[in-house]
Amino acid sequence: MHLVWFRRDLRVLDNLALSAASASSSPVVGIFIETPQQWAEHQLAPTQAGLIQARLEALREELKALNIPLVVERANDFTEAARTVAEYATQTDAQAVFANHEYELNEVKRDERVQADLAARGIAWHTYADRNLFAPGTIKSGKGEAYKVFTPFKKACLRALDNLDLSPRRAPSVREETSVVRDIFSQLAPIEFVYPTVDVSAWVSDEKGILDCLREYCRERAADYKKHRDFPAMDGTSQLSPYLAIGALSPRQCLARLQAENGDWREPDTGAATWLSELIWRDFYQEVSAQNPAISKRQCFLSWGESVVWENDSTLFEAWKNGKTGYPIVDAAMQQLNQTGWMHNRLRMIVASFLTKDLLIDWRWGEDYFMSKLIDGDFASNNGGWQWSASVGTDAQPYFRIFNPTTQGERFDSDGRFIRRWIPALKSVPGKHVHQPWQWAEKYAQSIDYPRPVVDHAKQRKKALALFEAAKNQP
Ligand code: FAD
Repeated sequence: MHLVWFRRDLRVLDNLALSAASASSSPVVGIFIETPQQWAEHQLAPTQAGLIQARLEALREELKALNIPLVVERANDFTEAARTVAEYATQTDAQAVFANHEYELNEVKRDERVQADLAARGIAWHTYADRNLFAPGTIKSGKGEAYKVFTPFKKACLRALDNLDLSPRRAPSVREETSVVRDIFSQLAPIEFVYPTVDVSAWVSDEKGILDCLREYCRERAADYKKHRDFPAMDGTSQLSPYLAIGALSPRQCLARLQAENGDWREPDTGAATWLSELIWRDFYQEVSAQNPAISKRQCFLSWGESVVWENDSTLFEAWKNGKTGYPIVDAAMQQLNQTGWMHNRLRMIVASFLTKDLLIDWRWGEDYFMSKLIDGDFASNNGGWQWSASVGTDAQPYFRIFNPTTQGERFDSDGRFIRRWIPALKSVPGKHVHQPWQWAEKYAQSIDYPRPVVDHAKQRKKALALFEAAKNQP
């Protein structure tokens, strides 16, 4: 029997570990381990836990059609999870365990543990690089070094794409029903996490539904991605990140579908090419985190970043979390995050810049809060996005990028449609005044149930520059 350990690869199609396990006529059994204590330590959002649970229920049905039972077990943390898998493999007489690589520090240690435990029991361990277009460590500079900056990494990826096999890995053939498999099927218990979950039925969770979303996006909207992607009031991005984060969708499937529906992705500046570029950002951050384990230990990519003396005012942090900063675009964005578990990319950049450079709060506070709320929470992308926004990561700009939250709102939500959608108190503020509602309220003697700005952007900007300069120039 072959055991497939599902982790962040919750799909049947284009799953390298599952395909390899099913290559022979051996019976195949799937296993997933809920690790509540580990998830709590990693701040897994209840929205994402809800999506994982919903996806597991659908995956169980999809695998059942192939005569592959999916067992869901519970272990406190990764150490126990490794032991549980090894014990289950022993009990069921598995010859080998198959899994797809994970690159974060704790995940790597967990896999080293299970590999050693399985070896001691005489059971083989096979892993596959399945998470990215290009596995970390495979895209290198001419000098054989890992890239630290996105643009040359992207150029190297685009060159390497010519040799990338995009043909989808087929679903396994229907397995023979053995008595062991029949027994396992008969003992399957309902999937009920003890970890807190939130109902996410607004998101489809079956494989066909997810692939339909991908197809619809590539066919109908990818061509306009470059034009629409920065405007949060529009449906301009794919919203496929929750599926990519839990591996319900692979980036290969995304690119193969893009190629099938929209051949323009090789032409620079097209919508399709810009969308591909974002998938490459995903690879880039996973490369950065895999090559720099210190990042998993909460350290800044740029070492001087550790010297920034953050003010860390907890009252201001509460205002930011609750969308009560008095800056409408920031507050509307935080409402979107708090109410749906997802936030538009432009807004993630705005609120992250605001937290670090207007409120002068450590980016790690924001990173943790995002992780605890995001349905698409992904360590590498979240950490990369926060470090980039705080200017201590891989942003190639030689100056400190500081967004002005008012002008960002005016530029990317010019008529205030997005702001009014999320902040009912500002519904009656007309036109562009919505970006500075207090100026309007005072001028026209109106009352609004909306906080005044908690800080003055111009003053905070100067303070932030001084803090960053001081940290950078420390001997
Ligand atoms: P699309 O614009 O349709 O892009 C397609 C896919 O490309 C996305 O689904 C995603 O997998 C990938 N992608 C797009 N932009 C980026 C990017 N900048 N970095 C890495 N991958 C990208 N993304 C996450 O998946 N998980 C996170 O936890 C996360 N945290 C972030 C935190 C901050 C502070 C910032 C600035 C960005 C973060 N991002 C994160 C990246 C980005 O905001 C989201 O991937 C994107 O908004 C998802 O929406 P979409 O699926 O519509 O993306």
